[in-house]
Amino acid sequence: MTLAGGCLCGKVRYQTNAEPLWLCHCHCSMCRKHTGSPIATYVGFPAGTVIWLTTQPTRYRSSKDVERSFCPTCGSTIGFHRVHETSLLLGSLDAPESLPIAAIRGMHVWFKDHIPWFDTADDWTRFAEFPPGGTDELYNYRRPVVR
Ligand SMILES: [Zn+2]
Ligand SMILES: [Zn+2]
Repeated sequence: MTLAGGCLCGKVRYQTNAEPLWLCHCHCSMCRKHTGSPIATYVGFPAGTVIWLTTQPTRYRSSKDVERSFCPTCGSTIGFHRVHETSLLLGSLDAPESLPIAAIRGMHVWFKDHIPWFDTADDWTRFAEFPPGGTDELYNYRRPVVR
């Protein structure tokens, strides 16, 4: 399947033919700041499988191994980038309802930081932080030159 998406103003557009690796709700305070929402919901793909069709989103390095991206014009949050994965904000997809949700591993991460009165009605695993093995360190990450 092809999934497509982009920002509110249309300056940033992407598509991917890759199978989603997972879907997660992140409850951490950095994701709250980046999105302005109680949680950030991401769909993960292998790095390099998301094709930017127009302008690439602007990136902000929020941790030594993470860059967060957004449209430089309208500010829409687009992605969470690590060397092995490109995670797209679910809300940036044109048709999130078309995700093959039954075949995707869903989870909550950083649930220890969740807003006490905010939760969602699902039975996905609620990890206190990242799931075991989900914290690859990416010290040597170098962003490829974009031409
Ligand atoms: Zn935009
Ligand atoms: Zn987070």
